[in-house]
Amino acid sequence: MLDTAALSQLLNQPCKIVITTHHKPDGDAMGSSLGLYNYLIQQGHHVQVIAPTDYPEFLAWMPGNEEVMIYTGQTEKAAELIAQAEIVFCLDFNNLTRINEMGELVRQSSAVKVMIDHHLEPEDFDDYRYWNINACAAAQLVYSFIVEELQRPDLINADVATCLYTGIMTDSASFRLPNTTAAVHRIVANLIEAGAVNWRIHELIYSNSSENRLRFLGHCLSNKMEILPEFKTAIIAVTREELKKYDTNTGDTEGIVNFALSIAGIRLAAFVVERTDMVKLSLRSKGEFPANEICKKYFKGGGHRNAAGGQSDLSLEQTVEKLKQILPEYKTLLIQ
Ligand code: 5GP
Ligand code: MN
Repeated sequence: MLDTAALSQLLNQPCKIVITTHHKPDGDAMGSSLGLYNYLIQQGHHVQVIAPTDYPEFLAWMPGNEEVMIYTGQTEKAAELIAQAEIVFCLDFNNLTRINEMGELVRQSSAVKVMIDHHLEPEDFDDYRYWNINACAAAQLVYSFIVEELQRPDLINADVATCLYTGIMTDSASFRLPNTTAAVHRIVANLIEAGAVNWRIHELIYSNSSENRLRFLGHCLSNKMEILPEFKTAIIAVTREELKKYDTNTGDTEGIVNFALSIAGIRLAAFVVERTDMVKLSLRSKGEFPANEICKKYFKGGGHRNAAGGQSDLSLEQTVEKLKQILPEYKTLLIQ
C-alpha cells in the first residue's frame, strides 16, 4: 500500500492516468470521475475517463463529458490505455466485477491502483485506498481527497465543483438520506462558492425528462405498483415489453423506486425490471432498514443500507415471488 505522500509525489509530474467507475454509471459515478478528471487536467496529466458501459442522457452534460470513452464502443483503445496507464483511479466501486471485462484489464495493469469509494467490503486489488462507508457519495470523498489529502483546495474550480456537486446531490437523493451530514452541507456550500450553479444542476438532472419517461412513470405508479401493508413494502415490477412499449432509454427507470418509497408508512420499496439478460432489482429503504442485506443474501448484489441492487436469473414473476417470500424474515425490522 502507498501512503498519501508517495501518491502525491507520483502526481507531481505529468502522468498517464485512467479514471474508471462502475458499469451503468449513475450521477455519483460520473460526477466523481469527471470531478477528479477536471482536477487532474489542471496539472498537465494525460487523463482518460473510461466508463464500462453507457449512461443516461441526463448525466451526459457535465464538464469533460465529451472526452469520456465508453469501453464497449472502443475496447481495443481502452485496453491499450489501461495497460499503459501509470495510475488507474477506481471511483465509486470497490470490486473489479463492477467494471465487467475491464476488471481483468485493470487487475493486470502495472499501474498504481487508487480506490476512492464508499461501498461495503472492498476487494483487495488496490495500492492506495481512500475509502469511507460513511461518506454519502464517492464525489464527497474526491472532494476531501483533493482538499485534505492533496491539499489543493485552490484547484476546486467551477468544473470540478459542478461535477462533485452532481455526485453528492444524486447519491444523497437530493441531500435527503441520513448520511447527508452537516459536514456534507459544508462541502456543498464550498462547491457552490467555487462555481457549482446548484439550481441549474438540479434542473439538468431532475427536470429534463422526456415525455415518454413521465408517461412510463405514470404507468408504473398507476398500474404496476403493489403495496404489501403487512410488510410496509411497495413493489413495482415491469416487463421488457412495457419498457419497449413506452420507448424507454437507458436511465428512464432510474428513480422510479423512490416514488414508491415516498408513500407514508412504506419502509421498503423495490423496482424489479426485466432486462435482456437478467432481472434487475433496485431496493430503497427508509431509516435503519438494511436493503443491501436482502440484495447480498438473495440477489447476488449489494450496495448501501438505504439504496441497494441485485439481480436474478429467475423470471420476472418468480423474482417478485421470491422477494415476497423473503419479506417475512424481515417483518420485525420492517414494521418497527
Ligand atoms: P441501483 O438500484 O440504483 O441500481 O443501485 C443502488 C446501489 O446499489 C448502487 O449505488 C450500488 O451501490 C448498489 N448496487 C446495485 N446493483 C448492484 C449489484 O448488482 N451488485 C452490488 N454489489 N451492488 C449493486
Ligand atoms: Mn456512489
